[in-house]
Amino acid sequence: MSDPAAELAGLRARLKLLVEEAEANEQKLQRTLDRELELLRAETLPELFDLVTGGLASSYSLDSVRLVLEDPHHEIQHLLLGLGYRPTDYPAVRFVDTLVGLAPQFAALRRPWLGGFVRADHGLLFGASAELRSLAFLPLRRQARTIGVLCFASHDADRFSHRQGAAFLQHLASIVAVCLENGCNRARVLRSGLTDYLTGWHNRRYLNARLREELARAQRSGTSVACLMIDIDLFKSINDSHGHASGDEVLREVAARIEAQIRASDTAARFGGDEFTLLLPDTSLEDAASLAERVRTALMPAVELGAGQLCRVTLSIGVAAVTAGVRGDDLKAIADRLLGEADAALYRAKAAGRDRIAVAG
Ligand code: GH3
Ligand code: MG
Repeated sequence: MSDPAAELAGLRARLKLLVEEAEANEQKLQRTLDRELELLRAETLPELFDLVTGGLASSYSLDSVRLVLEDPHHEIQHLLLGLGYRPTDYPAVRFVDTLVGLAPQFAALRRPWLGGFVRADHGLLFGASAELRSLAFLPLRRQARTIGVLCFASHDADRFSHRQGAAFLQHLASIVAVCLENGCNRARVLRSGLTDYLTGWHNRRYLNARLREELARAQRSGTSVACLMIDIDLFKSINDSHGHASGDEVLREVAARIEAQIRASDTAARFGGDEFTLLLPDTSLEDAASLAERVRTALMPAVELGAGQLCRVTLSIGVAAVTAGVRGDDLKAIADRLLGEADAALYRAKAAGRDRIAVAG
């Protein structure tokens, strides 16, 4: 005869275990989602390398993590140098000419491989002294190519085994692969010399190239292109009274506040020192002038510098617009006219007392 009370107690205990297990899974999922968001938000390759190696090791309690990247032309290493870092700053990241050269099994890896640590096979990757017992190799795949392998290792022999499911690891690997590709692309754009390092905005070179494209498009569609030339008032005195580093901070904040006012189709560039240019496709002079007023207003709240210092920043803005005319008109001449008119208007705004906009024509 079974004892109903004992049976009930048994059921209760099982239920408690199930609830605990569900809670643990929920926490694990949350941790994973947090990690993924962090990876997706990483803006530079060095930041990404830190998150993928040290970051994942600590959040998943791994004893060792290695990121192996195939870099046959040393391009990624050069990108890193261009950002002011050396490849040796990241001992957990290995750059190899070919993945197979490091471990033959990497060549055929299409999905995560989980299993035991074999010193003869894996010692090269993790170092001879490592007391490792189990491993997970996660191929990082982009466009049907393996760009690298993320290697997790544990002192616990049961941590990774071929009997386990690997869907979660495969998902993580696909996020890491996308983030690495984006990180490399961002570094390439920076290196291509079309981006301003301080603000992350495009620079004058990019603006000039883009202006021609926009004018050609406007010519085809018969629309107008507007331009805002924005210059910080008396910026030299901000540098003088708060220091050059605070001046840089002001430049970044001005860029961020302008950016909050524009559309994705607009082009924002740092034209030079404290001068910014906005290119607005399919925009009339009137609409450009009202955007200029919004930008000027966005700078009204003082900029906060470190240590509670506040800095009042004002802008002068010149506004101009052109209709690109008939097909075949000289695009360079039209571009020069647009920039010239916006610049002349900016000059008038300065001459009239600053902290104001002036419209061409
Ligand atoms: P105005 O109202 O007539 O524009 O006066 P201004 O003082 O702003 O004059 P100007 O535009 O000629 O001065 C720009 C200053 O910006 C000069 C230069 O020292 C400074 N500057 C240029 N690039 C940078 C930079 O990257 N960082 C910092 N902190 N200052 C810069
Ligand atoms: Mg200025």
